[in-house]
Amino acid sequence: MALPSHVKTVVIGAGIHGLSTAWHLAARLKGQGKGGGKDILVLDKTAIAAGASGIACGVVRNNYYQPAMRELMAQCVEVWESDPAAFSYHPVGYMQISPEAMRDDVAAIHEQQKAIGYESVFVEGAGPSETYMKGLFDDWQARGITSVLHEKRGGYANNTAAIYGLAKKAEDLGVRIATGVEVTGFRSGHAAAAVAAVETGKGVIECDQVVVAVGPWINRLWTLLELPNTVTIKGRDGRLHQDIPMWRYWALEEGTLGVDPNLQKTNDGAMPPVIHVDTDAPLHSDVDGSLITEQMWGIYYKPDFNFGGVQGGAMPQKVEAPADQVAVDPYGPDSPDFVVDDNFAHMWCSALAFCQKRFEGQIGKYKKEPSGGLGCFTPDSFPVFDRFRENVFVIADSNHGYKMIGVGKLVAEELLGGGSALLGPFRFARYAEGRLHPVSHSPFPWS
Ligand SMILES: Cc1cc2nc3c(=O)[nH]c(=O)nc-3n(C[C@H](O)[C@H](O)[C@H](O)COP(=O)(O)OP(=O)(O)OC[C@H]3O[C@@H](n4cnc5c(N)ncnc54)[C@H](O)[C@@H]3O)c2cc1C
Repeated sequence: MALPSHVKTVVIGAGIHGLSTAWHLAARLKGQGKGGGKDILVLDKTAIAAGASGIACGVVRNNYYQPAMRELMAQCVEVWESDPAAFSYHPVGYMQISPEAMRDDVAAIHEQQKAIGYESVFVEGAGPSETYMKGLFDDWQARGITSVLHEKRGGYANNTAAIYGLAKKAEDLGVRIATGVEVTGFRSGHAAAAVAAVETGKGVIECDQVVVAVGPWINRLWTLLELPNTVTIKGRDGRLHQDIPMWRYWALEEGTLGVDPNLQKTNDGAMPPVIHVDTDAPLHSDVDGSLITEQMWGIYYKPDFNFGGVQGGAMPQKVEAPADQVAVDPYGPDSPDFVVDDNFAHMWCSALAFCQKRFEGQIGKYKKEPSGGLGCFTPDSFPVFDRFRENVFVIADSNHGYKMIGVGKLVAEELLGGGSALLGPFRFARYAEGRLHPVSHSPFPWS
């Protein structure tokens, strides 16, 4: 495709956020008689779904301790439910299965889910939790569990299929998607702050506004936009914490046990909800019985025909190097540094066996293929959705975001002058103002 020399809106990144924004913006422009998809150009340096959206596990849940996240996720689930076929979305539900240290947190989540009309069942106590789980899986055997939250909505989507579904919706409205075009810089206009054009490897494109939705590459684009690489955060104690790095990386750990996905069906033969288990019970090897960890640990898993087995993950690994020194490319399975190793396979398969007897002795079927990938996190591990330099909207989801298909809808409304109460708690100014999200007892940085 020949690139235009001017377009009203440039969207950088053809992942879940860039494409959802382009689709919703095109629909609104058309609906309001103000233009349409022809006014929007999506640029991606590689391809549609070349980033985190193309390798994500695809889990869609509401289970968040932070009220603002739950409310946003409820809106996102509505978008997933609006066209399950196009998004390859499987509404099987989601379960958070937790130890005593998390019981109060999860009880609070359930209370608010009731308040916002998000259907879920909450079971408390070791005995009732075990009975509930055995009612679903008769081989359930996880220990150290004293509560179960069963979300009846949510589930998972097939990662790339959903992104292609979004791309089709956008293109059907006239949006142009140019792949193999890397944004390498921004040009300012007469108004000093605003961006007047994006520089790409294939020429300069003048534009009225820019949407940055580049997932794990946000550190680089942030630098190109000359935004601050450290922030001051007003803590809960009222003190100012200076020079906190804006971005840091974690390596997501995921893999697939190459069994027949039907192995994980429920007692009544249905496809099961996505399972997430956190526990403080010691984890021992399913191979030789040795101790793997006595710290709180967690895993998630689901049968997935797309991955060809039971697919899931465990807690991510912190990348200690400063963000500027982390090689994001080559990304995902192509990375020489950020794919899972044998330790992950050993831990995750042992944890599966800890939860359900059917997984005992199955580690030999673990798929030895590169998996996992980097996620880029903000200082508090929650998203930043905000406007910078007057006409640049940054969607930086802090790696929460495959499930956040509805954020693009809210961003499109803001681009057309509307405000969004749901996006309000995710403004950049929250760091300086001390409007921080509550922190849960989960062993994951994203719960
Ligand atoms: C292994 C793994 C599993 C995950 N599982 C889940 C999950 O189960 N559920 C969930 O909700 N979230 C999950 N996440 C997080 C989720 O995948 C991301 O938060 C989300 O996909 C980010 O979407 P995005 O559109 O912002 O970015 P991406 O999908 O990463 O897309 C960004 C795009 O920008 C392009 N790009 C980058 N720089 C430039 C440039 N300079 N010029 C042009 N194009 C550029 C890239 O090529 C890429 O295609 C997971 C993440 C990982 C890594």
